[in-house]
Amino acid sequence: MPDRPTDPAHPNPGISLTTLPSSAQISPPLSAAVAFDPSAQRSPVRSLYIHIPFCVHKCHYCDFYSFVDTKDQQAAFITRLLAELAALAPHTHDLHRTPVPLHTIFIGGGTPSLLRLDLWATLLSKLNQLFDLSHIRARAPGTEFTVECNPESTTDELLRILLAGGVSRISVGAQSFHPHHLQTLQRLHNPDNVARALTLASNVGIPRTSLDLIYAIPNQTLAQWQADLTTALSLNTTHISCYNLTYEPTTAMTARLYAGEFTPTDEDLEADMFQLTSELLASKNLQRYEVSNYALPGHESQHNLAYWLQHQWLAAGPSASAHIHAAASPLLGSHRYKNRPTLAHYLDFSDRGYAPITSHEPPDPKRLLQETAMTAVRLARGLDLNSFLPQLNHITPRSLEPFTRQANELRSDGLLHPASTHPTTLAVTDRGWLLADLIARKLMAAI
Ligand code: SF4
Repeated sequence: MPDRPTDPAHPNPGISLTTLPSSAQISPPLSAAVAFDPSAQRSPVRSLYIHIPFCVHKCHYCDFYSFVDTKDQQAAFITRLLAELAALAPHTHDLHRTPVPLHTIFIGGGTPSLLRLDLWATLLSKLNQLFDLSHIRARAPGTEFTVECNPESTTDELLRILLAGGVSRISVGAQSFHPHHLQTLQRLHNPDNVARALTLASNVGIPRTSLDLIYAIPNQTLAQWQADLTTALSLNTTHISCYNLTYEPTTAMTARLYAGEFTPTDEDLEADMFQLTSELLASKNLQRYEVSNYALPGHESQHNLAYWLQHQWLAAGPSASAHIHAAASPLLGSHRYKNRPTLAHYLDFSDRGYAPITSHEPPDPKRLLQETAMTAVRLARGLDLNSFLPQLNHITPRSLEPFTRQANELRSDGLLHPASTHPTTLAVTDRGWLLADLIARKLMAAI
């Protein structure tokens, strides 16, 4: 399920979050090797990601940490997850140890909708005890609580439990409405169940839904992709994510590609599919607000925006990745770390509730600026130069001239321009969307 940050499994053995956290001061994710000022004041974290690793089947293109659910580990997993959430909760407290309201929660996987209903009830009850969900429950602007759902395992009963627990949005993995393309991906659901899941959500009262679609599947034609988009639009969802199929190094799909079982989609066809996507979805007012994401105005994914705007987020569950500012000022950089991606280690290891860590990037102000530029130019709103350039000048003044030169070159090439709503931004043009990754790489390299 692709709409969240991922990184490849790291080969290092697990490392614990050894020191730590009370009140608003998040621990260093790692201990001695990390230069860390424990007296630094951090702002409370407002976003939380939870990873549920169980799936019905391992899809051939998937490199997320997930495995076939044998039903016998769910209870132990939830018990362990609750301990981790209890350890993380103080990082959402202010300096007076008072919980501040969370803005966003995203429960992904894996296939969260596979969890037993009683375990869902337990998890949501505990979340509501440990964290302040008052703004989410009031559906305040800028808040969101999303759960990823598989079309087959989305039931009326499940959705009622989710709604009672504060969930305001479900994201349904449709991927394609053509059974033979689903077969190529080894997605085993019946495409008719996508509409059923969305109807159930609407009937139960979950206010927002999103669909995931994949294009550039081997042998997929432009007409078939158009039909997928048309079907998705007919389902009245307010958010659609459209990802091109990527061949990750360790997946079965990539092995089949190398074995000659199929050929990847022609690049020109893929570009046509990308272009068609924005044109067709815009005709129904679903505007592209990120390279792969489209929404009615006001229905953008608030949790994913937290990722792309370099906000802080906590992470729980095996393989989940977190991003925590080093201090109150993001100018000082941020920690990024990832829980070890194996259930056995997750269950076996606990340091006061914290999970074993497999990788950690210590704070690096220059890296944070690079990441800020990279994710901002993939957003329609673009990079706010009024705030970015002074930061760049402060952190790495020698980068100011090369960055400005590179930005001007991209402007001359017609790939960047000021966003229409904000004249002091750097945003990709219609022509630039197709090259957004290249543009981001060039800007990062200039910093
Ligand atoms: S359902 Fe999603 S997470 Fe599970 S194997 Fe398939 S793509 Fe991966």
